[in-house]
Amino acid sequence: MKNLQKIVLLLALAFCATAGDSQTSKARKTDVKEIIYVVPTLQFPPDLVVKMQREIEGFYRVKTKTLPPTSFPKKCMSPIQGRYNANKILGFIQQKYGAKKAKVLILTNLDICTDRKLNGKIYPNYRIFGLGRQPGNACVVSSSRFGNNKLQKKLAYVVLHELGHNYGLEHCVTPHCMMKDAQGKGANIENEPKAFCSKCKKGLKS
Ligand SMILES: [Zn+2]
Ligand SMILES: [Zn+2]
Repeated sequence: MKNLQKIVLLLALAFCATAGDSQTSKARKTDVKEIIYVVPTLQFPPDLVVKMQREIEGFYRVKTKTLPPTSFPKKCMSPIQGRYNANKILGFIQQKYGAKKAKVLILTNLDICTDRKLNGKIYPNYRIFGLGRQPGNACVVSSSRFGNNKLQKKLAYVVLHELGHNYGLEHCVTPHCMMKDAQGKGANIENEPKAFCSKCKKGLKS
């Protein structure tokens, strides 16, 4: 009998925890506006940070806040000099900003890389535009491969794409959908519409 009481009590506690959680998420959707934090690395141009904030706010209907510039710790370095491992950067974001329980985007002009599978072959430490958890609260985008031509447009496209991963979206094969995989090239992304296909739009999770 005592055991049964214990089980009932445990169930009651479990129920309370769940009820509490669902109340919080309800409040988030209706009362509190979501905030996405934007963190530049030390040499990233401040005017571009502001422009990306506008892009994010306009597209996702959220608020954004900047946090003080950061540098990447040594443990995020890849075996190639000057190139940082994007997966490790996501871990660093989680570690440093996880307590905020909000999405955090790092904007950098440093090279970032990951082991990339392209056409069945793995390319280690392959330079990429960005990486984001899917779903999750961490993403990183680099301007280092864009040059100066149409930089703002290209960067915004990748920022919105990576945040799309954070909101739960996978890569998409619909032509001109912003969630399509750049396949290591990213050709002409500055001319692509900044929009999701209807399937991706429906799949957005908060
Ligand atoms: Zn992607
Ligand atoms: Zn799509």
